[in-house]
Amino acid sequence: MFLKRLLCLLLCVFLVSPVCAAEQTKYVALTFDDGPSGRFTRALLDGLKDRGAKATFLLCGYRLKDYPREAKRICAEGHEIGLHGYSHGCMAKMCQEELEREIADTLALLPEGCRPAFLRPPGGKYSKEVLDAAEQADLGVLGWSVDPRDWATHDASGIRRQVLEQVRSGDVILLHDMSDSSVEAALAIVDALKLQGYEFVTVTELARLTGQAIEPGKVYMRFS
Ligand SMILES: [Zn+2]
Repeated sequence: MFLKRLLCLLLCVFLVSPVCAAEQTKYVALTFDDGPSGRFTRALLDGLKDRGAKATFLLCGYRLKDYPREAKRICAEGHEIGLHGYSHGCMAKMCQEELEREIADTLALLPEGCRPAFLRPPGGKYSKEVLDAAEQADLGVLGWSVDPRDWATHDASGIRRQVLEQVRSGDVILLHDMSDSSVEAALAIVDALKLQGYEFVTVTELARLTGQAIEPGKVYMRFS
């Protein structure tokens, strides 16, 4: 009787475990705005590589001019590149012609073979003209669902705590590879969330995993 119960229990564990493991996998996208930025971007890429984590970098044209090697490395290491405007000026205040130029001039500086899927307007501010320009350029418009305001606080443990308190599977986390505190917080977030069963994927991969098509000119805040 005891043996029969034991066998039954073991059978249940074997049958149920793989299902639970699959259900427990949670996905999240780390996104970094305003770069590339030299040593901060390089330290972040080193840390992400050590941890097997992928991220999405929303790059500015005026910085791509100064840091083409970092942009190339982002691409070569399997991360995603998106656009964050050329000048980092407020896109919501720009006319159609200015918007088209911001997008075209940034696209021209991207590493060879890099085809972005998203535009994230600076500050997340957009107008109908921004959505139209994104649609014309075949780009989705990317917002975010978790914002620890890393650029303002420069407090690595506070940034980490805020993200851990808010995050859910499918979230898009907004950070900036522009300071030591942001890089430190980002890597601590990866370490902590990996222990909770999260995987770090690019935004395009997050969309794919959640069965959402990326439509040009449409705004995405998170993927569920
Ligand atoms: Zn920005």
